[in-house]
Amino acid sequence: MRYLTTIGLEVHVQLKTKTKMFCGCAVVYGMPPNTLTCPVCLGLPGALPVMNKQAIRLTILTGLMLGCRIAETCKFDRKNYFYPDMPKNYQISQYDMPLCLGGGVVLHDLAYPKDAQKSIATADKVIGLTRIHLEEDVAKSFHLETATGIDFDRAGTPLMEIVSEPDLETPEEAFAYLTALKQTLLYGIVSDADMEKGQMRCDCNVSVRPEGQPEFGTKIEIKNMNSVSGVRRALAYEIQRQTGELEAGRKLQQETRGWDEAAGRTFLMRTKESAHDYRYFPDPDLLPVHTQDLLREAQAFMPELPAAKRQRYVADYGLTAYDASVLADDLALGTYFEEAATVAASASPAVKPKPVANWILNDLTAALSADAKTVVDSPVPPAALVELVAVIESGKISGKQGKEVFTEMFGTGKAALAIVKEKGLEQVSDAGALEKFCDEVLAANARVVADVKGGNDGAINFLKGQVMKLSKGTANPVVVGQILERKLKG
Ligand code: ADP
Ligand code: ZN
Ligand code: MG
Repeated sequence: MRYLTTIGLEVHVQLKTKTKMFCGCAVVYGMPPNTLTCPVCLGLPGALPVMNKQAIRLTILTGLMLGCRIAETCKFDRKNYFYPDMPKNYQISQYDMPLCLGGGVVLHDLAYPKDAQKSIATADKVIGLTRIHLEEDVAKSFHLETATGIDFDRAGTPLMEIVSEPDLETPEEAFAYLTALKQTLLYGIVSDADMEKGQMRCDCNVSVRPEGQPEFGTKIEIKNMNSVSGVRRALAYEIQRQTGELEAGRKLQQETRGWDEAAGRTFLMRTKESAHDYRYFPDPDLLPVHTQDLLREAQAFMPELPAAKRQRYVADYGLTAYDASVLADDLALGTYFEEAATVAASASPAVKPKPVANWILNDLTAALSADAKTVVDSPVPPAALVELVAVIESGKISGKQGKEVFTEMFGTGKAALAIVKEKGLEQVSDAGALEKFCDEVLAANARVVADVKGGNDGAINFLKGQVMKLSKGTANPVVVGQILERKLKG
């Protein structure tokens, strides 16, 4: 019996605003506990919320980037529950009138885990979105040995909830979904979306059913995932567990589970019987929002999207789809490449973008990662890298010498030409000097010369090698070849 998997993700994303959703407290990560609070975000009785328009703009922008419909009017509701992370006993959220509806996330090849990129079932699969709504984040609990500490710095941070349709079919697709979604959020500068910092968090809904059964299997939710690779592992485990249960003839029941990363397994948290009834109702402190003006303002911040940038790199710079994708995958890397390509185009003679891209994708990327640096703090700025490529392309130094020069540039911050001069690497292209080397070699190898003249073209390489040797490797091999050809055949 074959089993089919269905996965839907609920992703929470903290917005990159200066202040919180309903008060003026600053949104900053990693401050000492309870230093960014006021009566509103502490949930004290009687405090009144004031809406943060920028949070609404950023949510609308997210919706625009993901192709959602933007509601003309949205409203805020109270989601009632009792827990110390929310002393006013309700969270302000959106229930039946969310800001964004529909839309989707495209799973491009590079978004998949590296080891799964060769076996993608459907290229550029689109995962539908159900909705995106805006709410306030709650406080963070720290479970200490004998007590629980609560930090309200996070409470009231604007939080988007992005809910997907149950369109995902494998843990690898879930991985790609989160990667592609995060990329879009970074492109729009709507969030830093760092899962390790809790700025992006994910609940995974997963079910399995026997092939041929039309309705979905029983949905099981895995709460609070905080890494993309963790989501992949948790889903793989859970699919196996659920399949095992069904194969053993047992029934699954709707439940919420947690993920134990160290043990590599999920564990039961609560069953459906203990599910909350949140008793949503419209928050009487907040008026419904008409989005017309905010939508127009958000449109002005619409960035070039990753897919468009990938296509532009192929069309404008003649890169392969793969190279374009790697460069566009990282905003900073793309910016570095575009700066370099601009310098290259205005150099004289102009340098082609393709070898520049190759140097970025190979040597620069490797050197950066070996030093645990990002491209933003690269010791070799774009213009300096272009100078190196220009020196190589002009034939002054060989590609192999170029690698040596690059290592020196990366280590010392010196310019390519300066290093070439300092090390005396410059290839001798001066015809007069090379002419002398060639004459010397021709005189010393009369038999080979006769061979070449007799039609053995291959023997010319031997002579070329001798000239290189005589010049101690400094001769420009292209020019040497031309001189020898002229002397032997011309
Ligand atoms: P709930 O009301 O329990 O939150 P929703 O219908 O809102 O459930 O769905 C929450 C998430 O679970 C969505 O991302 C949805 O796509 C996904 N989902 C719904 N049904 C299933 C299922 N049977 N298997 C897997 N995922 C599902
Ligand atoms: Zn506050
Ligand atoms: Mg739900």
